This record gives sequence, C-alpha cells and structure tokens, in this order.
Amino acid sequence: MGGLDGEHDVAALIPMVRRVVGARVTDPDVADDLVQETLVRVLGATQRVEPGMLEPYAIVTARNVVASMWKAQDRHRRNQHRVVDLRPAAAPDENLLAGEEHVAIAEALGRLSERERRTLLAHEVTGQDTRTLADELGSSAGAVAAQLNRSRARLRVEYLLALEQREPETDRCRPVLLALSSGERRRQQEVDAGRHLLECQLCARLSQPLLQRGHPRDDQVRIPIHSDADIVRARQGARELAARLAFSKTDLTVIATAVSEMARNIVRFAAPGEIVAELLEAPRLGVQVVARDTGPGILDVEQALTDGYSTYHGLGMGLPGARRLMDEFAVASEVGRGTTVTMTKWQPEGRR
Ligand SMILES: [Zn+2]
Repeated sequence: MGGLDGEHDVAALIPMVRRVVGARVTDPDVADDLVQETLVRVLGATQRVEPGMLEPYAIVTARNVVASMWKAQDRHRRNQHRVVDLRPAAAPDENLLAGEEHVAIAEALGRLSERERRTLLAHEVTGQDTRTLADELGSSAGAVAAQLNRSRARLRVEYLLALEQREPETDRCRPVLLALSSGERRRQQEVDAGRHLLECQLCARLSQPLLQRGHPRDDQVRIPIHSDADIVRARQGARELAARLAFSKTDLTVIATAVSEMARNIVRFAAPGEIVAELLEAPRLGVQVVARDTGPGILDVEQALTDGYSTYHGLGMGLPGARRLMDEFAVASEVGRGTTVTMTKWQPEGRR
C-alpha cells in the first residue's frame, strides 16, 4: 500500500467534508471543529480503506461526527442543572499576604550578591540612571542595563522560592526558573525548560507568575494537555494563531488537524503534556508546533513513522498522518521520559 499519498487524498476531501458539515451546522466555529474532527478520523483510517473508499468514508464520518455532537449537546442540556459552580475561591487574606510578601522580598534580596543588590536598589529605589551607575562602576550603560535585567530575573526567582519557603528539589530547578524569568529563549532551550516543567511540579507552578509577567507573548500559544477538552483547545489555539498569516482555509484545517493528532496521542498514551504553537518569521513566515509529553517514549522512532506500524502500536499513532500534513517534522524521544514532536508549516511563498 506504499504508494498511497494520504496528504493529498485527505486535503482534497476538505471542501466536500466542509459541505456535508455546513449543511447541518450553521455556527462556523463549530463547523470548523467538526470538519477537523472528521479529518482526524479519516486520517486514522487511510491505512485501512482503499483510496477510492476515502470519499464515501469521509461523508459517513462527517455525518456521524455531527450526530454525536448533537447527542452530546442534548446530554449536556439535561445535565446542566447539576453543573457545579467552579468559580475560583475567594482571594486569600490580603493583609496576611502583604506581610509574607514583605518577608519574601527581603529574603530574596539577601540572596543576591552585595554588588548586585546595591546596584539594583540604587536603580529601583534611589532612581539612579544606568549611565550614572556605569560611571560609578567603571562599566558601560549597556552592561549595567543587562546586569540589572539579570538581577531582576534572579530576584523574581528567589522571591517566589522564598514565598514557597522551600528549596527546589533538583539542581535543575534554579537554572530553568532563571531562564524563564529572564525570558532568554535560547537559554530555555539549553536547559530543556519545557520538559522540566512537565516533570517538576514546583517549577510548573512557579513558572506561571514568571511567564505571565508583563505583556503576554502574542506570537505563541501554550496549551497544557490532560484530557479530551484540551484537544479542542489546542487545535483552536493553533488555528487562530496560524490564521494571522496568509494561510489558505485548507492549510489552516491541515495545521489544526495535525495538532489534533498530536494532542490526541498525548491524551491517550502520554499525558500530561503540552502543545506550544508559535509564529515563525525566519527563514520564512510559518507556524511551528511543538508537542511534548511525559509518556513512555518511543523505542524506534523511524519505525513509528512508517505507515501501518503505528496502527497496532498505541503511542506512535497519528505520527505518520501528521507528518504528511506538515512541511517539516521531527521526533525526539527518550524511553521512560517522553517524546517531543516539532512540526512546521510554511506559508506558501508569494503570499503576504
Ligand atoms: Zn524544578
């Protein structure tokens, strides 16, 4: 069956699937979701059905997907009166918090070096500008500014750790937290921060305030993957992000479908994990998706990427399909630790 070109077969089905769904569902967002859901299922079946069977199979699948959504909505309506109020609990006592914060800041400052502390306080509290500080320290304004940024990054990390009133469990925690706090992406990659956050509960928690600080990055979405609902969130997030580039509607569906496949893999076999979608500017405009999990890992990546193999071995499921949909596709896996899939779709040249 080696000659089957699943990518073109499946992509060619998109207009037809869209018509079938569109005839039954009016909300365009819901329709998009159902089209993607259908394509995911069809992709999963390309190895099991004849190429000529793909179209009828897709039509039947689209109808089923729409029908099961209606069934689910019905159930939801019946159960609605039982839904628990999940609003966050009331904020903790503000005065108490203020006291603890004060102690934590003092403690964090105490963990900086004498020189770091003096420079930071002179700048932040006394209001000395970087040029004046540079003259005093026999340095340049740029170097002082960079040092101040590093000091602030350290202070944020030490402050959060002081609030926790505990030391990190591994010697990887501080470097990871520092890389996140400073926002240095290369450094984050060097210390494999993404993976550490999946493995370390402390850093996962502390990373939230570190990453949410200031302006949220608007060229990236990060979706934690635990359950089925996260699959929908992941594909919607990636699709919305990619829609800011000049991708065709079909390309957007293709990207969302590949993201679905990866998220589904994680939920079934390797949760928890995460999907991070990011816009790329170089070497071309495009969208990169990283799917990271904490599952058992894949022993033989080459083999898992071959069609047919994955059908019978859970974890690699969806890999060949997603690979066909994207322009670039790389898998790094470590048995016992997890798998990271990095895939990219480039915006077609000539579009802006
Ligand atoms: Zn940690």
